[in-house]
Amino acid sequence: MDPTDSGGHEHIDHIPTHRPHLPRHAHVRGLRPVLTPTDEGYATELGGFNLIAAPAADLVVGATNADDVALAVRYARANGFRVGARATGHGLPIEGRGTVVVTTSRLNSITVDPVARTARVGAGVRWRDVVAATTPHGLTGVVGSSSSVGVVGYTLGGGLSPLGRRFGWAADHVRSIELVTADGVVRSVDASAGSDLFWAILGGRDGFGIVTAIEFELFDLPTVYGGGIFFAGSAARDVLHAWRDWAPTLPEEAGTSVAVLRLPPDPDLPAPLQGQLAVHVRYTHTGDPAAAAALLAPMRSAGPILLENVDILPTAALDAVHMDPAGPMPSVERGVLLGEFPAAAVEALLEVAGPQVPSPPAIVEVRLLGGTSATAAARAERGRRTPRRLFRDRDRSAGPTARRPGGSAPAGGRRRTGAVAVRRAAELLRAPRRRPRRSVGTRRAAATGDDPPPARPGGGTGE
Ligand SMILES: Cc1cc2nc3c(=O)[nH]c(=O)nc-3n(C[C@H](O)[C@H](O)[C@H](O)COP(=O)(O)OP(=O)(O)OC[C@H]3O[C@@H](n4cnc5c(N)ncnc54)[C@H](O)[C@@H]3O)c2cc1C
Repeated sequence: MDPTDSGGHEHIDHIPTHRPHLPRHAHVRGLRPVLTPTDEGYATELGGFNLIAAPAADLVVGATNADDVALAVRYARANGFRVGARATGHGLPIEGRGTVVVTTSRLNSITVDPVARTARVGAGVRWRDVVAATTPHGLTGVVGSSSSVGVVGYTLGGGLSPLGRRFGWAADHVRSIELVTADGVVRSVDASAGSDLFWAILGGRDGFGIVTAIEFELFDLPTVYGGGIFFAGSAARDVLHAWRDWAPTLPEEAGTSVAVLRLPPDPDLPAPLQGQLAVHVRYTHTGDPAAAAALLAPMRSAGPILLENVDILPTAALDAVHMDPAGPMPSVERGVLLGEFPAAAVEALLEVAGPQVPSPPAIVEVRLLGGTSATAAARAERGRRTPRRLFRDRDRSAGPTARRPGGSAPAGGRRRTGAVAVRRAAELLRAPRRRPRRSVGTRRAAATGDDPPPARPGGGTGE
């Protein structure tokens, strides 16, 4: 886990059959809180957005600074425990016995430098806190579809933003990372030092250490043209085919995704959406609003519209584009990367999520990649190696829905590739969940590039 240590690694993922007595407050005195499963506040400390399974760990350490994290890691190492990190609980709950979990919600500092256009945030900070701090300066980070997600967990997984076709991945804009490695040492790594650790952790999540703070670039973007159009689910086939033809024609200022949603009969939802199957076309455009509206216009005739909320938005209101559930809720996500999104892929998607399916996934989403998110040049110029394991680079024309210039259909081989990928997504959605302890409220199979995560030595369970 520590690349600076050329040999003799001590592995903290070794779990002894004879467990050492847990310290309660003895050996790690000074940390707060330090909780075992029988302590009051344990479940709350480990709780979060995703209720699919009760998180469990032998010891939970609520870190208040980087030194707390280092102490927790050293304790875990000395006693043969694995270590995982948890911020908001948007990922799968960590449920490993033999695990020390460091909760980071108290690492909540935010410093914005409007001149350098950077922000440095603690590991417990959510995007909505960053948005509140950067908006007064007209600046934004490469925020995801929901600002309730944690900055660090999102960024270490790549960070796929509705603004990604314009700005790329959040991980592309990280300046420096402060983390605690497996030897219990607080380190600061950045790209300029040519650190393997820097590149490894961007995609490796807690497999290489527990991040305590992260510094990243901001962009000048006070407003966005965007929102969503909800089409009636009965028109799912027409809307998906229309989106498939339309999306690849968009310039890189524009981003879009399409989601088939099973909406609950929730009185908090707008009346036309309650209990409906809907197809939600999400759209952002960072350029001229009139040009943005003209580009979106052809999609409006794809089917009967239940509701729409497309307008000029303050960037701080970007959550209105995807309208992700606020949670907490039980959910399991699966994702695959599609090379193409041909007609056969739409049909495969409808097989598992169309109007005729009695018990479909709650959400199936396909996001358009390409644009800056597919441009390797910036990374190459800065001497980067592959920065993430979760997402692979693509050239500009190879987003999930990309077709050849001039709108010609992709070659047969590539068409099959897209359909096969969607069938694989379909199989994943049909497959019994590994740990289905509760009924699944949300499943998102997406062409977002969220390939299954690598196995890792850390205590986290991945997503
Ligand atoms: C409603 C919703 C919308 C989403 N939208 C997007 C999106 O638009 N784009 C996108 O790319 N992803 C999106 N995601 C996925 C999200 O980015 C991941 O689930 C992310 O891991 C959440 O991080 P967290 O810290 O909020 O969650 P947590 O469950 O607290 O953490 C998840 C994992 O992140 C890692 N981690 C967290 N903190 C640290 C740390 N300090 N050091 C090392 N590793 C750490 C650990 O592996 C941990 O298990 C979304 C998820 C949800 C539920």
